[in-house]
Amino acid sequence: MTLAAYTPRSMPESLSGLFQLALDLRWTWHHGSDELWLALDQDTWEGTRNAWLVLNSVSGDKLEELAADPSFQDRYREQIAAHHQFVHANTWYSDDCAGDLGQGVAYFCMEYGISESLPLYSGGLGVLAGDYLKAASDLGLPVTAVGLLFQQGYFRQAISTDGEQLEFYPYNDPTMLPVSPLRDDDGQWVRVVVPFPGRNVRLRAWKAQVGKCELLLLDSNDPRNEPGDRGITSELYTGDPEKRLQQEMVLGIGGWRLLRQLAIHPSVCHLNEGHCALALIERALSWQEEHQTDFQTARTATRATNLFTTHTSVASGFDHFPGTLLQLYLSPWLAARDLTIAQLVNLGSEGANTGVNCDGQRLNMALLALNMSGRINGVSRLHQKASQRIFQPFFPRWPSADIPADFVTNGVHTPSWDSPESDAIWTRACGKDRWRRPLQVSCPMEAVSDEDLWEMRRLQRSRLIGYLRRRLSSQHCEQNPANDHAAACGLLLDHETLTLGFARRFTEYKRPDLLLQDQARLLRLLASRDRPLQIVLAGKAHPYDHRGKEIIRRWKAFSRRPDVEGKVVFIEDYDLGVANQLIQGVDVWLNCPRHPWEACGTSGMKVLVNGGLNLSQYDGWWAEAWNPGVGWAIRPGATFEELRSSSDHDASDAGELFDLLEREVIPDFYNVDQEGIPRQWLQKIRASMDQLTAPFSANRMVREYVERFYLPMAEQGKQRTPEAAQGIVEEHSELIRHWPRLRFSAFNVSESGGSQTYTVEVYLDGIDEQRIAVELVAERSEYGPRTVTAMAMQHPLAGSAHSYLYQCSVPTRPEGHYTPRLRVRDGRLNLPLENPTVLWLK
Ligand SMILES: *Cc1c(COP(=O)(O)O)cnc(C)c1O
Repeated sequence: MTLAAYTPRSMPESLSGLFQLALDLRWTWHHGSDELWLALDQDTWEGTRNAWLVLNSVSGDKLEELAADPSFQDRYREQIAAHHQFVHANTWYSDDCAGDLGQGVAYFCMEYGISESLPLYSGGLGVLAGDYLKAASDLGLPVTAVGLLFQQGYFRQAISTDGEQLEFYPYNDPTMLPVSPLRDDDGQWVRVVVPFPGRNVRLRAWKAQVGKCELLLLDSNDPRNEPGDRGITSELYTGDPEKRLQQEMVLGIGGWRLLRQLAIHPSVCHLNEGHCALALIERALSWQEEHQTDFQTARTATRATNLFTTHTSVASGFDHFPGTLLQLYLSPWLAARDLTIAQLVNLGSEGANTGVNCDGQRLNMALLALNMSGRINGVSRLHQKASQRIFQPFFPRWPSADIPADFVTNGVHTPSWDSPESDAIWTRACGKDRWRRPLQVSCPMEAVSDEDLWEMRRLQRSRLIGYLRRRLSSQHCEQNPANDHAAACGLLLDHETLTLGFARRFTEYKRPDLLLQDQARLLRLLASRDRPLQIVLAGKAHPYDHRGKEIIRRWKAFSRRPDVEGKVVFIEDYDLGVANQLIQGVDVWLNCPRHPWEACGTSGMKVLVNGGLNLSQYDGWWAEAWNPGVGWAIRPGATFEELRSSSDHDASDAGELFDLLEREVIPDFYNVDQEGIPRQWLQKIRASMDQLTAPFSANRMVREYVERFYLPMAEQGKQRTPEAAQGIVEEHSELIRHWPRLRFSAFNVSESGGSQTYTVEVYLDGIDEQRIAVELVAERSEYGPRTVTAMAMQHPLAGSAHSYLYQCSVPTRPEGHYTPRLRVRDGRLNLPLENPTVLWLK
């Protein structure tokens, strides 16, 4: 196929470096080259923030003119030099990271939110993946990300005159996106093939350069594909399970094949959510073919270096596929390979751990990822607990506290979210390169005066109001002729008024309507003469989410009340561009999800760097971040168990939200001294910026992944040679043979002082006692926290082959509180993930 369509335009020789600059998405966060794009084509740059489009739309005459303009040439050369320096600069990874990741990390995700000009995302998951990649680039981490190039992506939103959400799917012309065809060493466009029923699906590969990292994107819109197949990479998150399976095959199988084709052998494979779980199967199968082993050995060898990050809080959030669909679609792929559909389904259902055959069951993609991974993690401390609970059923007889789900709290890519004003202030306080290395705790905002901080806040708010007015006048407000046009367009938004922002997916659990629970009370806050409130809202409802759409209608109706108009505005088509403006300018960011649905929440982290404050449910990241000095929490201090047990607290949460606004937020904001400075408010801002910006940055998050996961996992992976993996598999089947005959007897306790000594006899049926751990477990009670105490082997029991006496001492608790259990002991494995075999006395 010809590449003619993707041959770049002609360019004066002296400006040819612009191609490289325009194709490095570093311009989404590093604004050094902004003035070049502005000079080339102001309209296109301001309208799209797409440097590649600017380069392709600017006229030849303009290029000639700028090529001859010495001042443009100077700025151009400066940027080229800066880019060269950036590409070759030392980084945290090259200088300070204690370890080596070899060929690096392969990162898989269904969506990527890198820029509004590359609309391959729907929301939080994608934005997180984008922020991860940008921070990986800052830190110099060798990451190759894999995703799909959607021709339409997620829908674009408008709101009709009667408040109805309208959904549009404009076509993303790939030549206009800041990506380029991925070419091999011979200059050929790289393609991979995934077998589908009766046909092969050809995938074209693209490359998005994200600073030092590459994002490889596959798309199926090759004219030689069947017409239907050309649309596989069309929309993101369609409701149709068949299309979804097709997408997950293309991403997982195609993605891994692409890496192989490029001879990339990553040290670690990181799955961001379970959509891409088939990559792990393809990985194991290709390992198997290379090493001529059986599948179980391949699975054991490869899984040690697979990390699965889950973002789901409820089991119903997982993708499931019925057996019939799998039979149809996966058969051609597995045809000549050593894995049947039934075995695959077993890996994605409880069968994998229990050994029960699960023919006819559904394949759960998260479970498949879990059973193919060496480590798993949730995305906040509370979400770890939620994950342990939802994965518990797949670890029979294991209490949820033992479920091996770790956590890494999400973070945001600070340089992508700071405003020009806050950038200047941080630079003054902490230096230029502050976000590219671990942020020093010793760079507080104390050096910045209240006056300067307040000026920053006012400028940011003012810019937001300007932006909102421009946005609003291009929305449908003029179609509301009954009322005052200015009010209808939100033109009454005020520069000095406390501005509350709420923007996220409009779905019931996020409770975008919590403030509407008491409209009279809300009206009083909005209408206050000397201490008014104004609210900015944005968010899409999923096309099938009728409740979410209903909430949009209700807000639209409310915002049109004559006494509200111009004080509450709804911005259409929430995307990265809108988010970027909102999080710079709002004073308070509101988040009030219903527990336990929100895994972490990240939008509130984006206001931190800019001195915005959070008013949020004590949930997700805020449960880790909040203290009274940095912001406000609804139901502060609630424990996971309390949150879980009270499901319906909408009314009381709304009450608390209003109380906080009336008693703390609004008075603090308007409580200014003689110079007009709200000292208390600024104290909070300073505390929030100082204490939270760095810990909730993607920089911290990525380093945590490296240090706690990638490096130890890569080390463990090196130990899993084909021989070692085979040994593990053989020992496991031997253990399973003996296991049904293992038993406890003679469980006894003696007491002295405040402690108890327990002894128990165990029969191991010939298994080496070194391979077994005996533990004494007490659940949390009024007598103390949950404890798991190792029992030490005392001696073999005389007169009884394969029997041993175990013993340990523990603080006294009533009878029945301590129970012994037997499990596998094996330093080579991640337990109980890789071997959940367990036996309890009762
Ligand atoms: C940050 C962001 C999100 C995620 O926000 P949550 O608070 O986690 O819901 C979604 N969409 C966009 C455009 C964002 O920038």
